[in-house]
Amino acid sequence: MEYRLNTRCVQAGYTPGGGEPRQIPIIQSTTFKYDTSEDMGKLFDLEASGYFYSRLQNPTCDMVAAKIASLEGGAAGMLTSSGQAANFFALFNICECGSHIVASSSIYGGTFNLIAVTMAKMGIEATFVSPDCTEEELSAAFKDNTRAVFGETIANPALTVLDIEKFAKAAHAHGVPLIVDNTFPTPVNCRPIEWGADIVTHSTTKYMDGHGSCIGGAIVDAGHFDWMAHADKFPGLCTPDESYHGITYAEKFGKEGAFITKCTAQLMRDFGCKQSPQDAYVLNLGLESLHVRMPRHVENGQAVAEYLQTRPEVAHVSYPTLKGDKYYELAAKYLPNGGCGVVSFELKGGRAAAEKFMKGLKLAAIETHVADARTCCLNPATSTHRQMTEEQLNAAGIPAGLVRMSCGLEDKADLIADLEQAFAGMA
Ligand SMILES: *Cc1c(COP(=O)(O)O)cnc(C)c1O
Repeated sequence: MEYRLNTRCVQAGYTPGGGEPRQIPIIQSTTFKYDTSEDMGKLFDLEASGYFYSRLQNPTCDMVAAKIASLEGGAAGMLTSSGQAANFFALFNICECGSHIVASSSIYGGTFNLIAVTMAKMGIEATFVSPDCTEEELSAAFKDNTRAVFGETIANPALTVLDIEKFAKAAHAHGVPLIVDNTFPTPVNCRPIEWGADIVTHSTTKYMDGHGSCIGGAIVDAGHFDWMAHADKFPGLCTPDESYHGITYAEKFGKEGAFITKCTAQLMRDFGCKQSPQDAYVLNLGLESLHVRMPRHVENGQAVAEYLQTRPEVAHVSYPTLKGDKYYELAAKYLPNGGCGVVSFELKGGRAAAEKFMKGLKLAAIETHVADARTCCLNPATSTHRQMTEEQLNAAGIPAGLVRMSCGLEDKADLIADLEQAFAGMA
């Protein structure tokens, strides 16, 4: 029987037998013992599944990856040491020097830098398209060497909502998969695979961990994409890998297993961006309450967004499920239970007003973080985007008076009271 999402948040990924630990065991071991070198050889040849070295695979990490794959409705999953590593691996598993990526321009700054700067140095080019582009504009961005399409369900920090079906349709029409970073809504609020995404990634650092404890990432493969039908585009999956005695991933592991097996066997082996078993254990504690926490983040985000909209000091509020928001319709379709707890708003009076306002906050802390239990906020103009001039900030769609507020799990009345006293202090 397939349990409901709430139950899977608590129990998926690990079913103990009689006398075994109730909580997932932390397998704090770099290596694993075998009786014969023949047994071990089979593991190295990918002829048998099992553990031999925790740089590639560790049982604790695999239990937690299996839970996340189950929540997303995917066929297979893996953990990585960070969200950055998850997005890099997801792309680099199917791209190489000479490949091209179509990506939404509205994505996390770190991912934009990864694709636009670092992967460009590896000879992988990208075309960035507005998430609001027409189907024709999207189609025009593809080239013969395009190998993947990338976007974020709810973009950090712009809070744009990706039309997943539109992007999936374009990707599939061009014979490539759609990769969606689902960090902000989490599978509690959106499951991109149900809308046509092929690969889903996460910075588990955010709501999945949810307590600001551990940096981590995850990759989930839907197991739907037919690599062999586009074998010319994906030689890494569809031709023999000499480093594993000539096995062909798409043949040996099928649609369900090829992507994650190759990503583990090659990229984890060579780059080693592994999550530690300790961190995976902490991440799993967060996942056990994800379905309880997300609705509260949404409730607080919605209440704060509605309150901010009534303030004369505020020029504009962005929150996808706020009536009148540019993404309200898309949010109603993809995020019927709400999106996340992050709200962006622009204060009249620019940088100086934002600085004064934030100094007045008592409960909301100033941090370069989002999506944990404690409310925090950030003014990009005086922190992450500090080097930019007023003109450059406006061109980037980040006005100097913009404040990004991540609503935690506190009482919403206290959050609003905190905002109210900060506004009073500005007068
Ligand atoms: C934070 C974030 C990342 C990067 O994740 P790290 O865990 O910090 O490496 C990637 N995508 C999104 C949407 C994020 O919010």
